Amino acid sequence: MFKFFLLSTLLLPTLVLPTLELSTLELPALELPTLRTLCYICIMNNILIENAKQILTCSPEGTRFKSGKAQSEIGLLENSSIYIENGKIKWVGKKLPADLLKKNVKKINAKNKVVMPGFIDSHTHLVFAGDRANEYAMRLAGKTYEEIANAGGGIVNTVDAVRKCSKEKLKELAKKRIDNFISFGVTTMEAKSGYGLDVKNEIKMLEVINELNDELPVDIIPAFLGAHAIPKDKTKEEYLDIILYEMIPQIAKRKLAFFIDVFCEMYYFSAEETDKIFKQAISFGLVPKLHTNQFYSIGGIETAIANKASSVDHLEVMKESEVQQLKDTGIVACVLPGVSYFLNIQYAPARRFIENDVPVAIATDFNPGSCMTENIQLLMSLAAHKMEMKPEEIINAVTINAAAALCISDRAGSIEVGKQGDVVIFDMPDYNNLLYHFGVNCVESVIKNGKVIN
Ligand SMILES: [Zn+2]
Repeated sequence: MFKFFLLSTLLLPTLVLPTLELSTLELPALELPTLRTLCYICIMNNILIENAKQILTCSPEGTRFKSGKAQSEIGLLENSSIYIENGKIKWVGKKLPADLLKKNVKKINAKNKVVMPGFIDSHTHLVFAGDRANEYAMRLAGKTYEEIANAGGGIVNTVDAVRKCSKEKLKELAKKRIDNFISFGVTTMEAKSGYGLDVKNEIKMLEVINELNDELPVDIIPAFLGAHAIPKDKTKEEYLDIILYEMIPQIAKRKLAFFIDVFCEMYYFSAEETDKIFKQAISFGLVPKLHTNQFYSIGGIETAIANKASSVDHLEVMKESEVQQLKDTGIVACVLPGVSYFLNIQYAPARRFIENDVPVAIATDFNPGSCMTENIQLLMSLAAHKMEMKPEEIINAVTINAAAALCISDRAGSIEVGKQGDVVIFDMPDYNNLLYHFGVNCVESVIKNGKVIN
């Protein structure tokens, strides 16, 4: 993903700006008038965040994630500062050495404020058209899942809407949602296909995700989820062949997805079918992750382990033996409390994972059917009350462990020298306020690659 590129002396040969980074969004640029170009030049990605009451580094101390007891360690620094240069964290500590400070640095006073890594949402269905508000109302009125499906509801409803929707319109809809995500402190997210269910529309969704990643300041990591459901006009065998021999090769060739994902669930895709899809996708260079154990335990955990998945997601229904199996695999257990809340089903056993040294991430699973919210902070609150997770465990779950779930913990998810300058500043003197003052957005600023984006 070549989102950022260097703008060296090409535009202004007389200025010495060796490593200025600007997003492509702001560079429809070479034809822009000089004055506007000069404005862009002024947006330096050098920021000094000074005197924060608390900085939570969430550093995994040289490892990929935090698990077990370490999941409750957040690396608290008091009355400290962060210096971000050229989009990367250059220094963290009490007082910045004078020789490090460059000119043209934006200073932010963080006195009495809390700074933590930008939130990472490792599981979203960001791109879709239409909405399912009617179905929600039907459900509240007591209609069953079957009654709603018979009335044309469910995933097929969204598939129809996505197939009819232009790429431009899908992008426009997703952009609004991304603005919401950013406002709640999200600086990196995953986004899946899975509402096209044919070659043309799965590729259309992935193109939208890739273009949004190129054009917007946040990082959006694409996951191919063709195996989300079976389209109405195909048998499962026919559709599996299309996934294996048409979709995966084409998507891999065009580098449209980083991850391969499957909805491994009763009535959808079996563990055997999931294994087949994973093996084919891995041979084309994709990394597996898995929707599994939402309603039934049908062997998804074993399949994920056998294929070295980066994360297993949902996990509302877990046998004790499956919790044990995840131990020492390095696979992140990604729990989705918003889905449990919205569907009124049981919550994933986050405490059991932590007790068994399995790293836990929390994600929104933002989607039109079972979790229609971009507010990751609300889910953090649910994790505290419904999953008995501690505030520190929750913060690590949406930062460093979510980064591990997306295979990016070498560059994101914690406040450490050399990592991306992705941080959120909260207008509160103590991080415990984040869960205590629930349902309210206390984000003051969101900084991505050293640039204030909210
Ligand atoms: Zn999902």
